[in-house]
Order: sequence, then structure tokens, then C-alpha cells
Amino acid sequence: MILPRSKLNAQIEKMSPQDSFHASKKVCHLLRSGVAAIFGPQSAHTASHVQSICDTMEIPHLETRWDYRLRRESCLVNLYPHPTTLSKAYVDLVKAWGWKSFTIIYENNEGLVRLQELLKAHGPYEFPITVRQLGESSDYRPLLKQIKNSAESHIVLDCSTERIYDVLKQAQQIGMMSDYHSYLITSLDLHGVDLEEFKYGGTNITAFRLVDPDGPEVRKVVREWNLSEAKNKKGEISSIIRDNNTFVKAETALMYDAVHLFAKALHDLDTSQQIDIKPLSCDAVDTWPHGYSLINYMKIVEMRGLTGVIKFDHQGFRSDFVLDIIELSKEGLKKIGTWNSTEGVNFTRTYGEAYTQIVEIIQNKTFVVTTILSSPYVMRKEASEKLTGNAQFEGYAVDLIHEISRVLGFNYTIRLAPDGRYGSLNRETKEWDGMIRELLDQKADLAIADLTITYDREQAVDFTMPFMNLGISILYRKPIKQPPNLFSFLSPLSLDVWIYMATAYLGVSVLLFILARFSPYEWDNPHPCNSDPDVLENQFTLLNSLWFTIGSLMQQGSDIAPKAVSTRMVAGMWWFFTLIMISSYTANLAAFLTVERMDSPIESADDLAKQTKIKYGALRGGSTAAFFRDSNFSTYQRMWSFMESQRPSVFTASNVEGVERVVKGKGGYAFLMESTSIEYVIERNCELTQVGGMLDSKGYGIAMPPNSPFRTAISGAILKLQEEGKLHILKTRWWKEKRGGGACRDDTTKTSSTANELGLANVGGVFVVLMGGMGVACVIAVCEFVWKSRKVAVEERSSLCAEMASELRFALRCQGSTKPIRKKGRSCNAPTGVDDGRFHPLGSYTSYGFVSKEPIN
Ligand code: ASP
Repeated sequence: MILPRSKLNAQIEKMSPQDSFHASKKVCHLLRSGVAAIFGPQSAHTASHVQSICDTMEIPHLETRWDYRLRRESCLVNLYPHPTTLSKAYVDLVKAWGWKSFTIIYENNEGLVRLQELLKAHGPYEFPITVRQLGESSDYRPLLKQIKNSAESHIVLDCSTERIYDVLKQAQQIGMMSDYHSYLITSLDLHGVDLEEFKYGGTNITAFRLVDPDGPEVRKVVREWNLSEAKNKKGEISSIIRDNNTFVKAETALMYDAVHLFAKALHDLDTSQQIDIKPLSCDAVDTWPHGYSLINYMKIVEMRGLTGVIKFDHQGFRSDFVLDIIELSKEGLKKIGTWNSTEGVNFTRTYGEAYTQIVEIIQNKTFVVTTILSSPYVMRKEASEKLTGNAQFEGYAVDLIHEISRVLGFNYTIRLAPDGRYGSLNRETKEWDGMIRELLDQKADLAIADLTITYDREQAVDFTMPFMNLGISILYRKPIKQPPNLFSFLSPLSLDVWIYMATAYLGVSVLLFILARFSPYEWDNPHPCNSDPDVLENQFTLLNSLWFTIGSLMQQGSDIAPKAVSTRMVAGMWWFFTLIMISSYTANLAAFLTVERMDSPIESADDLAKQTKIKYGALRGGSTAAFFRDSNFSTYQRMWSFMESQRPSVFTASNVEGVERVVKGKGGYAFLMESTSIEYVIERNCELTQVGGMLDSKGYGIAMPPNSPFRTAISGAILKLQEEGKLHILKTRWWKEKRGGGACRDDTTKTSSTANELGLANVGGVFVVLMGGMGVACVIAVCEFVWKSRKVAVEERSSLCAEMASELRFALRCQGSTKPIRKKGRSCNAPTGVDDGRFHPLGSYTSYGFVSKEPIN
């Protein structure tokens, strides 16, 4: 019992919503009889008059209507949720769904005010939102058709609860109640609309509600009303707040809560003071003394009502409230989450529940699948009898949709896109063509082909996760086998290595010659039998040096052998050099002789871009052409300008046409194509090959109309097939086995090995070793020279410098391979220090004299 000491009597006055004059009259009449509070009216026209009278008389005025004017009159309490906060709920929901664009259908100006937060939240640079008014007529079809033609699938509907059914019904008639349409209905009384006909259409219809019919308070109250209605057919309260047995209107529930709020405030005040009802006259300046106290009590009271917790903020507005988010499902309207002003949207439906619901919907569906003929994805089946329906087609994509339909349990009908195109955006008209157009027009539910996932397409339609990965590459004629070259023996080493070798040969020969002259140990007795020669001979004349080095280079050797350490060092290093060079040459020659040399004018996209002789193109309106058109990379930009400038056009209507042009072009045309399609072509057409690697990396996906609820389920099915290895099996079947697959397999293995000439990078080290050896040899030669000169200088008692100078002068003359002996005490005789009669090795002579065989300087 709320009011133990008082009793509330309701006095109902009915009036026309527009008639403010009578409204004022009736309020004055009520005041004359004495009232504690006035509830209502619901009409905005009359409410303000009632409000001003209540304010003057200080009679509490309780409202339960949406009022955007947000008045803060002293005697007013409005239980309707604060309009701005309510508007935020719509903003939060639209944001939670991630709607990029939507159309608002509103009935009257109030509707626009109601949705102003939604309009404000949408930035100027975001996708456009369209705002359309329903109009007076009850035929909404022309308006709905226009919205349908704009391909909009997200609709916010703001109209009176009575019109919702008609709008939805007419939308259904013109095909705007498909799986891809979503409606957000702003009415808080959607559960009062008969939605039976829309339950199975798959359309997403969502709204907020203030009253939870399953809440314990509501159930209790409804039960009581039903009982009292049954007992007392003329019960007054029940006629105010009960509309039917299944739901409670927001307005009704708010009125119920308003009465309870007033009762609670009255009770609170009643405990502290005596409250009497006082008749008041509109003509007198008299007020009710308890009015303000009651209003203030109502504003601080916090209680639970049918519309949730009732409390007011410091400004006296009801801005803290909770709304249920309800969605239409096969079982009727279901709560899928809640919204409150502090936390925003909170979906209570789990991912699993949502997924199961979608899979259930899918199972009763027959999807229209749009595709285009493109080998091996979709091809016409070859058969003797006439085939119809899905049986006409076969290929990877056909098998893929079949497998997906088995996983999810749906039916499908395959239809070819009328223009046979993949789908590209015309930048001027902003219109899509091909399969994408079919999806946008909702003529098809799925697009399955070698349809590349691109940014532009993803903006227009939804894609599943990719079922195949690929990249752009070049399809070109296979390189022609070169006839063996007459000078192919030169091939194992590159030209610069040959030049370096020739230089090394000459350099080493000259060095050998110089060191041999320089080194005293290379001067020998020319006649071994003559133990007292007059001259000494050096075998390393320039010609002999050249002969010695070429002999060893050719692996033949020669009679001449170095004797001094320095020259031996030169010879040793040279032999090491020849050993490595000859073995490298021989090994590489073997490879060159076994491998067929191929002549390929292009090896990569860069090669293509650098030349203009070979024309190149791509599929018109495909993602490959779009890649070049939109690329920021200079090579690809250049390639795009080249392609665009070519007459006749280098673009083709299909991949098949591109392949034919490459074959017929005989090396004059290269086709930029996706690697998977190239793979398919080169498996069957052995004249063709893929040139270079991939220019990018992307994937094929199944496309569906925007906002498709089936994307997650179909993506899940693709993942499942991938994990089970089915996608791999399908790929092998359609690439390598069916329709002549594997025809060029032997070819590919044969040409896969290649031999490259050895460059300086491969053999440079040997040159370094050779040069190092030459350096060491020079140092040794200097040591030998100094050592011997010192010895002679000691014996001759001359200075070392003079001795060295004279020897050096002789060596530098660079001519004459004999050298007279300087003999001690004689002008021409046998060396004094040697008397054993044998050939004396270098250095056995103690001194040299100069005889006239060679002119002496
Ligand atoms: N698969 C491509 C597309 O979807 C065709 C191409 O451009 O090569 O557009």
C-alpha cells in the first residue's frame, strides 16, 4: 500500500488534440473541483496551455510524451526519456553496426528533431546519408522504389507506430525486405505492430523498447490488470493503461509510472505534513500550497517502474534510462541487447547464437550465384545432350560453391553475368558493371569466379575471406632455342674475365722477363762443359717468357724452367692461377654444352617497361588493369601510359582473348595476367610461359551484396574446406588433371636448369692470388739482387751502390740474354773461385768481369 492515508481518484477528460481552448477550459473546470495533479495531455498543442495554467496555480503537472522543447518549468515532470539522450541511443546503435551510409525515412518535422543527433554524428566527409519524408499519401511505393534504386540497404524509419506496418508491407511488395536490408525503427512500440509477415524474410528489423514485457514488474501489473478487467468490465484504470493482453505501450507504461511516482512523492510529503486538496479558480490569483513541495519530492524520488528505474538528473530530465534492443527473428521480436546512457550499446546475443541463427536461415535458401565463363573456374560442360541449369557448368568455382553448399546446406542456381565482366567502377557515372552490378542490384546473392578482392570492390560489396592467393605476372611466348654458337667455347667465361686473363698473361710474362734479368741466379753458364765461360746466359728472353707462360696456361709446359726463387715464385703462382682457371673453364663448359641456350627478350616487368617493341596489355575492366592504373610506382605508371596509348587497343575482353593474342603475336605481345590463370594456361599450352615473378599479392573471394548476413558463415565454410585440404584437391583437379592438364610437364623440367657464364665475381679471387704472388716474387728478386751485389762488392772491394748500379743498368737494358763474366785479375778466363770442372749453379762465381761479347757500358 503506497498511500495508507489518502486515496487517489482519477478524473478523465477527453479532448481533441488540436483544441487548446477547450483544453484550458477543462483544466480550469478540474481545478475548480480541486485536484492534486494533472497528468497529460499527450498532444503538444494542448499541453503547453495546460502547463501554463498548472504553473500559475502551482499544481503538479506530469507529462509522459516526447517533448523536444525541453522546458524546465517549475511544476512540470516529464517521464518520457530525455529526447537528446534517446537520440544518442540511435547514434550508438548505428555506430555499433558500422553503417557507413543509410537513408532516414521520417514522417514529420518532429522525426527530424528526434534524429538530429544521428544527422550530426555523420561527418561531412563520410558516406552520404539520405533523408526522405513519407508524405501524406498512404502509398509509399514511389518513395521506396527510389530508395531501392539508390541501392541503399540501411534504413532508419521514424513514423508513428500505426504506419509502420504499411510502410514495411509496401517495402516488401517492391522487394525491399530482403536478407540484405536492415531497418532501424525509432518507435518504442514496435512490439505492438503485427510483424508476422516479415518474420521469415530475413530482413533485419531492429528497434528499442522501454518496457520489457518479460520483466517481473510488468508481468505482475499485467496479471493484475487482466484480473481486474475480468472482474470489473468498467474498471477505470484498466481502460487507461491496458491496450491488449500481449504488450504494454510505452505511453501506457509511462502513465502508470507517472501515477506511481506521484503517489510515492505524495506519500513522502504526507508523512511530514497534512495535505489537503483545495479548489482553485482560474480567475483568482490563488495557488495550491503543496504543489511545489510535491514537484520537488517527485524530482528527488528514485523508484522502479514499468519503464525501468525512474530518476531525474539535476536539470529535472529523465536522462538515465535503459532501453532493450529488439530484433525480429523467426520466433518474433527478440531482445538482443541493451542500451544505457553511460555504457552505450551492449549486445547480449553471443557470436555462437548469431551464427546458428544465420546458418538456420541459410538452410532454407536458394542462392542466385552470378559468375562469368573463365577457365578453369567456370566452363561450359561438354556433353552430347542439351544441358540445363547448374549442370551446364563445371570448373573450380562450380565445385567450390557445391562444396560450400554441402557444408551449409543451401541450394543455388548459377547464372552468368549478362555483360560477362568481373566488375569495375566507371569513375564518371559511379556505376558498377559485371558481377558487382548484379550483386548491387540484388539480382544475385553470391558472385563466384576468379574475382579479385580489391579496395574499390570491397567498398561496394562484401567479400568472404580469400579462397585462393595469387599475383599479377606476365604471360609470354617461351624463349626460342638458340642454334649453337660458333664461338660457344668462349661462353663459360665472361668477356671481362677473358680480358683480365689476357692481361694477366702478358703481365706475368713481362714480369717474369724482368725478374729473370734482375735476379742474378737466372744467369747461367751457357756451356756446362766449359767450366770457365766468358759469358752467362739468361734463358728468359721476352719471347721465352711468353712461351713459358702460354705453355703452362695451355697445360703443356715448356723446356724452360726458372731457377731463382723469385722467378719460381712467379711460375708457381702462374701455375696455380692456370690450374684454377682451367678447371673452372672446363667445368662450366660442360654445363654450357649440355644446356640449351634460350633467347628471351624479356625477363621481368622492368624489361617490358623499358622497351616498346613488344606490346603488352591486360584484361579490360579487371583488377589487373586497375592495378596499373592506380599504381604509384613509376615503372607501372609508365606501363599503364604505354598500354593506354596503344592503337589498336592492347586490352582484351577476356583472358582467353589475351592468351590467343600472345600465341598469335609470336613474341610481339605479352599479356599481364593473374598467376593462377597463367599457371593454368602454361600447363596446357607449351608454347607459353610465365615471365618473371609476381608484381603484387592478392586473393580471390566470394562477393555478396553489401550488408550480407551470410558472409561469416560462408567465410567459415571456406576455412573449413581449406583446412580439410579440399581446396587443394580442387586446384589439382582443375589445373593439373582435367581438360588437358599436365601436357607441358616434361617441357618444364627440361628447361628448368640453366648455366651462367663465370664472371669476375666468380673467379676474381684467383687474380688476386696471382697478383699477390707476383708482388712476393718482386720482393724476393730485390733481395736476391741486393744479396748478390753485396757479395760481389765485398769481393771486388767496391761499393755496394756502384755494384748495384752497374748491374741494374745492365738489367734495364732489356736486351741480350748473355752477360760477360768479370774475372778476377784476368780479362777473359774461368772463374777463379770455381775449379771443380762441373756446371756451377747460380752464385758459384765469385766475381764477374766484362768481356767484349756484349758492349760494356
Ligand atoms: N580476376 C581479375 C578481376 O577480378 C581479372 C583480371 O583483371 O585479371 O578483375
